Amino acid sequence: MITFKGSGVSKGVASGKVCFYQHPASEIVKTAAADLEYEKMRIHDAQMQTIDQLNALADKCREEAGDEAAVLFETHAMFVEDDDFVECIQTTLEDEQCNAEYAVSEAGAQFAAMFAAMDDAYMAARAADIRDVAKRIVNNLMGVADGGIASEEPIILAADDLAPSETVQLDKSKILGFIMRGGSGNSHTAILARTMGIPAICGAGDALKDEYADRVAYIDGETGQVVLDPDEMTYQMLQEKFKKQQEMKELMDTMKGQPDDTLDGVHINVYCNIGSVEDVEAVLTNDGQGIGLFRSEFLYLASEDYPTEEEQFEAYKAVASKMGGKRVIIRTLDIGADKQIDYFDLTKEENPALGLRAIRICLNRPEIFRTQLRALYRASAFGKIAIMFPMITSVWEVKECKRACQKVMAELKAEGIPYNEETEIGIMIETPASIFIANDLAKEVDFFSVGTNDLTQYTLACDRQSNDLGKFFDPHHPAVLRALKMAADAAHANGIWIGICGELGSDLELLPTFLAMGMDELSVSPSKVLPLRAAIRQSIAKTCDLSKLEIV
Ligand code: PEP
Ligand code: MG
Repeated sequence: MITFKGSGVSKGVASGKVCFYQHPASEIVKTAAADLEYEKMRIHDAQMQTIDQLNALADKCREEAGDEAAVLFETHAMFVEDDDFVECIQTTLEDEQCNAEYAVSEAGAQFAAMFAAMDDAYMAARAADIRDVAKRIVNNLMGVADGGIASEEPIILAADDLAPSETVQLDKSKILGFIMRGGSGNSHTAILARTMGIPAICGAGDALKDEYADRVAYIDGETGQVVLDPDEMTYQMLQEKFKKQQEMKELMDTMKGQPDDTLDGVHINVYCNIGSVEDVEAVLTNDGQGIGLFRSEFLYLASEDYPTEEEQFEAYKAVASKMGGKRVIIRTLDIGADKQIDYFDLTKEENPALGLRAIRICLNRPEIFRTQLRALYRASAFGKIAIMFPMITSVWEVKECKRACQKVMAELKAEGIPYNEETEIGIMIETPASIFIANDLAKEVDFFSVGTNDLTQYTLACDRQSNDLGKFFDPHHPAVLRALKMAADAAHANGIWIGICGELGSDLELLPTFLAMGMDELSVSPSKVLPLRAAIRQSIAKTCDLSKLEIV
């Protein structure tokens, strides 16, 4: 038996074959071709492989979503064989006497640039498709599996760590659990695992060996334990845990349809955090009463180029419609820090968590902001959308955001496009500055939502991405809890509501503290809704106190 431990960051037990993530090619290195004919043959084989993959994807899409969705992949498959594209690859190969990967990637870049420069907006938007096709061919040349997972069966995904842009592109139906050598409980991989409700372990370090690939592992996302070849006793213990997990799930299912009220009748809204349109399914299955945080940057991370107004509108509209009139809070783009996107061309920073991220990027690049706000307001006609701005530190930032909203609404009105004039506007409280001026900020907006992941990071000066800070990264620190209380008091004194959308919102140990503060909403991973509801329904709000804010 082999066992090792990391930190359990998403509860649950799972077993399956270990499969190591294959990072997609990021930088293509140019090398001299030893045999040009051989490189040509490699390109031909990779093209055929790509066409087969794209046709298979088109078939799958047709079955699941109809003809319209399948057309995209069929068009991509046709482009692989496009005469001009193929000629451009051959010319590059011969002129540069280089490796196949470089020739395909260069030809892809040239074609994408040519399309991007076209006046016709539809044709210009095809640049992203071309980059996608070229990347697929290059991945096949390099033997990198599509989506990073070289398996047809569901597996336990192992990796050093995953960038948010890699995480969003995973085929989630293939993942039973995660084991990461690095990462932390606050990394976006861990957050995604919790959203999906699958077990995850971070910080396993070198104990996770390459040679474990293809072997069956049992993982426990609560204790952080990984077991291969379990002995009889461990095997029985794991089976017992599987059984308990199933029983707990059945018990929690009885919470569906129940109100989120304490025994003494205090109601608290239990909403969900999502990162994509697909995640709404988990919200509905777990009976979430709204969406408290849609991390819209995941749309950008999943895209090869800036998502257009139309693409964003369709996504926001889909979420709003699927939620059928329940509140959907969409946070504007929050990139920078750990969420890097190549096509934004952000300057490399020494301290990205303190750099140009989130609202700072939007205020510096108004065209990007405008596109997103237009999509949001257009979607507001199809459900109860609220707009939320991240990483606020000053009142002037909020005023500038509101001016941008006013401008967009005026544009839509002039164009005769419907939108909801009453769309709520809120901000994330996730910097110490926003706590200190909460009273002034509350006068500007309709609601606050506390991002405890960043609030803990910035209050305690602890990197949320690091797995080495251990007890120093303590979201229960009285400084963090007192900050929450200050924000709640400022919100209520100004007649607005306040919620928590950071990971702390689902911390059952702190539920009495949140009730004592009068939190109006808790937004959690979909898998946490029913356990939270069960705890709320057993609580008596009037007996809850703020003793956790004291230093003992
Ligand atoms: C937070 O900081 O708590 C939060 C909810 O936002 P994110 O984790 O996406 O930074
Ligand atoms: Mg944050």
